[in-house]
Amino acid sequence: MQYVLISACLLGRPVRYNGSGAASDHPVLAAWNKEGRLIVVCPEVAAGLPIPRPPAEIAAARSGWQVLQGEAQVLESNGQDVSQAFVSGARQALAMVKAKNIQIAILKEGSPSCGSSYIYDGSFTGTKHPQAGVTTALLQDAGIRVFSEAELDEAAAYLKCLEVVE
Ligand code: SF4
Repeated sequence: MQYVLISACLLGRPVRYNGSGAASDHPVLAAWNKEGRLIVVCPEVAAGLPIPRPPAEIAAARSGWQVLQGEAQVLESNGQDVSQAFVSGARQALAMVKAKNIQIAILKEGSPSCGSSYIYDGSFTGTKHPQAGVTTALLQDAGIRVFSEAELDEAAAYLKCLEVVE
């Protein structure tokens, strides 16, 4: 069976910076949960960041990949540099993926760790920026297909294809 990595907050776990979850009630997730496919991760909490914690963004409209390369920083709204924690969390997510031979992930859109089609631009003004977060960038580099919670139908179709070729 193909396992699916999933952002903990999408299952309603209260791990977001503000202590909330972001539960998705999409039937695809409910079915996968019932089948025991979901491998749950919160990269930021795995890296030891507390709940709650200040909001963080990748500074200066850079990307998660640039953070991994040491070319950009993740800063909290108070100016604290949390880049190393974000990189550590991404590596822990990658280790989980490798341990279970996972090829697909559903990660929370917009997050500086988990965003895939957009993150925020580092200005803390709510300005979207079309880049991937740190964990997403590392997983994509390893060949994992990352979908957001808005792409669950596409993800389900992709998972079916994976299982056909198994
Ligand atoms: Fe954790 Fe990712 Fe959800 Fe942020 S978006 S709370 S890092 S699982």
